[in-house]
Amino acid sequence: MTNLKRRTFIRAVGAAAALGTLGFPSLVLGAARRVVVVGGGVGGCTAAKYLRKLDPSIAVTLIESKPAYTSCFMSNEVLSGERTLQSLTFGYDGLRRHGIEVLQDTVVGIDPQSRQVQTAGGRAFDYDACVVSPGIGFKWGAIEGYDEQVANEAIPHAWNAGPQTQLLRNQIESMPEGGHVIIVAPADPFKCPPGPYERASQIAHYCKHHKPRAKITILDAKDAFSKQALYIEGWTKLYGYGTDNSLIQWVGAAGGGAVEALDPSTRTLTGLVEEFQGDVVNIIPPQKAGAIAFAADLVDGDWCPVDKRTFESSRHKGIYVLGDASSAATMPKSAYAANSQAKVAAAAIVAGFQGKEPDDPTFVNTCYSVVGEDFGISVAAVYRLNGETNTIESIPGSGGVSPANASPEIRRREVSYAHSWFKNVINDMME
Ligand SMILES: Cc1cc2nc3c(=O)[nH]c(=O)nc-3n(C[C@H](O)[C@H](O)[C@H](O)COP(=O)(O)OP(=O)(O)OC[C@H]3O[C@@H](n4cnc5c(N)ncnc54)[C@H](O)[C@@H]3O)c2cc1C
Repeated sequence: MTNLKRRTFIRAVGAAAALGTLGFPSLVLGAARRVVVVGGGVGGCTAAKYLRKLDPSIAVTLIESKPAYTSCFMSNEVLSGERTLQSLTFGYDGLRRHGIEVLQDTVVGIDPQSRQVQTAGGRAFDYDACVVSPGIGFKWGAIEGYDEQVANEAIPHAWNAGPQTQLLRNQIESMPEGGHVIIVAPADPFKCPPGPYERASQIAHYCKHHKPRAKITILDAKDAFSKQALYIEGWTKLYGYGTDNSLIQWVGAAGGGAVEALDPSTRTLTGLVEEFQGDVVNIIPPQKAGAIAFAADLVDGDWCPVDKRTFESSRHKGIYVLGDASSAATMPKSAYAANSQAKVAAAAIVAGFQGKEPDDPTFVNTCYSVVGEDFGISVAAVYRLNGETNTIESIPGSGGVSPANASPEIRRREVSYAHSWFKNVINDMME
């Protein structure tokens, strides 16, 4: 998609049937059409940029709470000391160079009737289309004793990259040799399905070199996880998995891995079968769409239902919900998925402004994970719309996981693909 020329891209999404201008107030008035984008993460940035690339006459305003974006993807490498948080933090000047107005503020309301976005700073923005990509929120209270304050001060989730990632890194570094790290992994669906296991791998990578007698226990609310066979292959090869000296242990739900409560003062977790005590505890809580999705009445349950052809909200016309907050199974909640969905939504919005029908979209996703030194693995798929059922289906034979027992050269290359994918996606969303 990145290389697609603007005209080809518009043609690809355009079909014959014309829509009226009703619902696009600026069109009726003959003014430039306005799109307000809520959230300057992967989905929001990509949508803002591609809207301008497809039609530079559209006035795009992106509203983001934070002054810069810190990517979660690759943030597990901060925990191993392989990279810094700084290397994951990017400003918005690249988007400004595309003519996008980027404002730091928090959106607190979206009125689908008057087509207006309101911010905590007291500003209001009219829109013809609104793109919402706020990422996730956490289900506080799901684990007794674990709340936002405990997460910020003592037991970080580090599932939104930032100060908690640094706190977790500092705790791992200052943990005594022979210490015990516990990672609590949530039930599906959650942001980045392979992420907790990459996290365990990266912490093990650090411990292998600096604290070889440490133990990392993953307490899991599930009985299976993404790329499981490949992770276990890597853990066996790199960290002695399955032996008494393994750096990593995984306890699935059937083995008592689901956690019910935390005592933060002793870092003790209560499972269904037994208690677990850690020197460092990292709880990744169960998740739901970001707060603005609830405030704007975009959710059904925990996530936002959408028309999978356009990513327009099923609840309110003119609002497009992308990325982690959307209900877009079978696509995972990943950066690559958000990036792909944003291009589809941008094309659909432009087609609508031009009085055209959007075409049937295809989507793509690859999730790389760096298990350790020269050991990368991946899962990939190309997806298409099933318009009859409003579902996204992976195209048979289009992807799959990287091969089992692959050669060292393939594993080494997957690490380099992971790092170049990171540069490419940041470039595609922000530059
Ligand atoms: C440890 C970890 C590793 C990961 N690794 C990978 C990987 O290797 N590959 C991959 O594809 N994905 C990976 N991911 C997943 C990826 O980070 C997310 O899926 C992706 O960022 C989703 O994009 P998004 O636009 O939905 O949300 P985000 O990128 O989270 O962006 C949401 C933005 O909205 C802003 N916002 C929220 N509410 C408001 C509001 N009311 N007003 C203004 N701004 C608001 C937030 O501040 C944030 O900047 C990983 C995630 C984690 C946690």
